[in-house]
Amino acid sequence: MKRFVVTSKGDDKSNAIKTILDQYLSDFDLIMDEETPDLVITVGGDGTFLHAVHQYFHRLEDTAFIGVHTGHLGFYADWLPDEIEKLVIEISKEKFELVEYPLLEVKVFKKHAKEYKRYLALNEATVRKIEGSVVMDININGELFERFRGDGLCMSTPSGSTAYNKALGGAIIHPSLSTMQLTEMSSINNRVYRTIGSPLIFPSHHVVQFKPVNEAQSFLMTIDHLTKSVDHVNLLECTVAKEKIKFARFRTFPFWKRVHDSFISDER
Ligand code: NAP
Repeated sequence: MKRFVVTSKGDDKSNAIKTILDQYLSDFDLIMDEETPDLVITVGGDGTFLHAVHQYFHRLEDTAFIGVHTGHLGFYADWLPDEIEKLVIEISKEKFELVEYPLLEVKVFKKHAKEYKRYLALNEATVRKIEGSVVMDININGELFERFRGDGLCMSTPSGSTAYNKALGGAIIHPSLSTMQLTEMSSINNRVYRTIGSPLIFPSHHVVQFKPVNEAQSFLMTIDHLTKSVDHVNLLECTVAKEKIKFARFRTFPFWKRVHDSFISDER
């Protein structure tokens, strides 16, 4: 017996589709379970999907996700509202195929704290400042690579490569590749400060550290849609997480077709 939960963006259209999905799935003898769902169905957009994934990050091992979009086509939310009957029939079948995408792990080491804080991101982690520049040394596998000075830094997952990363000039990466990508936000480049300027793509066994030059300085750290103000940080450490997110797949919708339909045209 499968347990499910449907989350909604909260607008009238998404709420109405959630109500229909709750009813259809219950009619097929699936059990509504907010605490321990096997399947999380989101109704809204990619933003709604991100919120739901963070709500159920503690159940990554046991939970699969699927997204219905009520606005434009999403990268995570790629089912149309008029496909939900078909979707419910597929969900009610004995088994479904799972596709896994990589996640980003960020560890934040603070100056006086005994333990580090660990975060997982589905799209990306960024560091920025409200005022002034971010000044951080970037270490790759324990070696100083460069001193960055500029608006900020973004480390994205492959599935997040179509989000903020793309706006920063990063490459779009197929989510079957276990990588993370570093992009710069307006780096200062002159005779004093020099950065590579190009996006960097790292394999899963590499460790990238951001080391604030002035530890007392506060900055903003984002993990997907969440923003935190942090200070007295010794080190931020990024790696490809050992955990992956599972998507329930009931039909083929190749990644490059989603990229085409989202950014080029949805008419062929
Ligand atoms: P938001 O500012 O309300 O929306 C950000 C937009 O990014 C929405 O249109 C959202 O799609 C879309 N999006 C989210 N994940 C995506 C993905 N993997 N590929 C392509 N598009 C994606 O913020 P939010 O809804 O809370 O989402 C947070 C995300 O916004 C962050 O993770 C970051 O990637 C993105 N962001 C982008 C920029 C930029 O491009 N300049 C700046 C800041 C943040 P839906 O409309 O379907 O929800």
